[in-house]
Amino acid sequence: MEDLITFGSSDLDRAGELRANPEALAEALAHPQAGVLPVWRGKLLMWDNALVWLTPNSPVFDDAKDAPVFLGRDDGKPRFARDISLWEPEVDASEVGAFVDNSLQYHPDAPRGTGFAELRMVMTLLSRRDAELAASARAVLMWHESHRFCARCGALSEIANGGWQRECPDCGRLHFPRTDPVVIMLITHGNSLLVGRSPAWPQGFFSLLAGFVEPGETVEAAVRREVFEESGIQVGNVRYLVSQPWPFPASLMLGCWGEAISTEITVDPVELEEARWVTREEMVEVYAGRHPDMSEPRRGAIAHSLIQAWLADQVRKNTEL
Ligand SMILES: [Zn+2]
Repeated sequence: MEDLITFGSSDLDRAGELRANPEALAEALAHPQAGVLPVWRGKLLMWDNALVWLTPNSPVFDDAKDAPVFLGRDDGKPRFARDISLWEPEVDASEVGAFVDNSLQYHPDAPRGTGFAELRMVMTLLSRRDAELAASARAVLMWHESHRFCARCGALSEIANGGWQRECPDCGRLHFPRTDPVVIMLITHGNSLLVGRSPAWPQGFFSLLAGFVEPGETVEAAVRREVFEESGIQVGNVRYLVSQPWPFPASLMLGCWGEAISTEITVDPVELEEARWVTREEMVEVYAGRHPDMSEPRRGAIAHSLIQAWLADQVRKNTEL
C-alpha cells in the first residue's frame, strides 16, 4: 500500500553523518552539483512540476535570514533548502495559506518561468524523490520559523546540526524538529465506510475522521477515542495500515483501519458538521464524480489513498499479512 502514498519514502540518502560536521557541510554546499531549494512562506520554487534547485549564491537568497538546511544527497548531489519568507512579492498574496491556493509568486531573481507553488496543489505531480525532499524542506523550515525561542528559558536559540536541531546559547537545551502524530481511519461496518466533514471545508467535501494522538495514548486508543468523540461510533479491532508525512505544518498521518461495533451516529458539532455511512457502491460513484452531493477527498492526501485501497478491496488483504 506504500506505493499509493504521496510523500512516501523515496529512499533519500539523508546523510545524517554530515550534519554535525561543519566542514563536511561547507564542502557539500560548495560541491559543483549542490542545489538549494528556496522556500517562501511554505511555498516551494517549481517549474514544470519539478522542484527548482538554485546555486547557493543566487541573489534569491539575499532575503534569507537563516543558513540553509541540509536535506541529504539526491543521487550524490547535495540538496539544501532555505527560507526566504522575508521577500515581499509585488503581486497580491492574499490566497497564500488558504484551503485552495492556486496562486504562483514570481521572484525577479529566480529563473524565468519558475514560481512559488503551494505544495498541496502540486503534490501529486511531483516525482517520488521531489515529494520527499519537498515534504522534508517544508516541515523543517516551518519548524524553525515557529520555534525560534528556547521552550525552556525563552532565549533566542540557534540553528545547529545542519538545520535538524536548535540549541539554546543560554541554558544549553537542545530542541529537535516536531513531528505530530495524527490517526486517520477507515472505519467500516460491513460494506459501509464512515466519513465526515468539517464545518470549514468546501461544499460537498468529505473525508475520513482523524485526530491528534495525545501524550500517553496508543495509536489504537486514539483511533477509538477520536471516532467516538466525533461521531459517537464505537470501534472494536484496530489495525495500523500505512503512514504519510503531512507537512502542513508537521503531521505524520498514521493510516488505520477499525471495525465499528455500533452504527448510530451522534456528531460532535464543534468537530464535524456531518458524518455518514457510505456504501462501497456509493463511494465508487463519489470517486467517479457522479455522486449528487459528495466529492472525493483531496488527491494526494492519505484519506484519498486509503479509501481507494478499500474500494479495491486491498485493506482486508493487507491486514491479513
Ligand atoms: Zn534555553
